[in-house]
Amino acid sequence: MDHPSHRRAARAPEHAGTVAAGRGAPLARMRPSPIVSPTMPSSASKSSSRAERENTIDEIYEKVYVAILEHRLHPGTKLGEERLADIFGVSRARVREVLARLAHEQIVELYPQRGAYVARPTIEQARDVFEARRLIEPAVLRRLIDTLTPEKVARLRQHQELESDARRRDDKRAVIRLSGEFHTLAAELAGNSALARSMRELCMLTCLTIFLYDAPTATSCRHDEHRLIVDAVAKRDVAKAEKLMLEHLDHIEGSLKLDQQSGEVDLEAIFRS
Ligand SMILES: [Zn+2]
Repeated sequence: MDHPSHRRAARAPEHAGTVAAGRGAPLARMRPSPIVSPTMPSSASKSSSRAERENTIDEIYEKVYVAILEHRLHPGTKLGEERLADIFGVSRARVREVLARLAHEQIVELYPQRGAYVARPTIEQARDVFEARRLIEPAVLRRLIDTLTPEKVARLRQHQELESDARRRDDKRAVIRLSGEFHTLAAELAGNSALARSMRELCMLTCLTIFLYDAPTATSCRHDEHRLIVDAVAKRDVAKAEKLMLEHLDHIEGSLKLDQQSGEVDLEAIFRS
């Protein structure tokens, strides 16, 4: 854990200023065009214009990623190559690269002949994600506290402000996204790029899981728990920070209905026993 490493993971999400600009503004910025979800409001297609310039792979990746993170693109949604190429004004080859990258991170599932779909983590995968998070996140906080600077505390506080602001505005999409990004930010600030990358993937899988197995009105992270964690980090209280994080993860997993068949029947389990 003491190896020198990159300060920030690649593709670090922008935190500052994305939400503070006011209701709707950050989403408008991140939503250049409708993607393919049947649940997208129809007004989106009227208000957005076709991509005017070529989107890079990074930009398209980020747009799809954020749309999934904000629950605008649902698990199981088909991501048609041709439609995405059309929407983003790029070649299908470029879309394929983006989809391959998302598939590599388990965010998208690729099926021969059928195409790409937003992943639908199974209950077993969901449990695996929480098990991994319980191992990784205390380590993230330990490393963060080891390398803590006033600037890092300020970044965490700033992010917390964005979260509180989104809650005050009842901007559910921003709350969901920012809740997940809090954990990714902590991993980035901890200064280990591998941990940050893993955290980013685990947060996304948690996000998909919450969508599939949570009560429809719930959000991933409880109000105030991030603040308590940041307070413990700022005081360099490793034991308390770790304890709060584990409790926080328990609360998130506890709010999910992982004991039930959430509409999906496991035929294998039924017929092979
Ligand atoms: Zn959280």
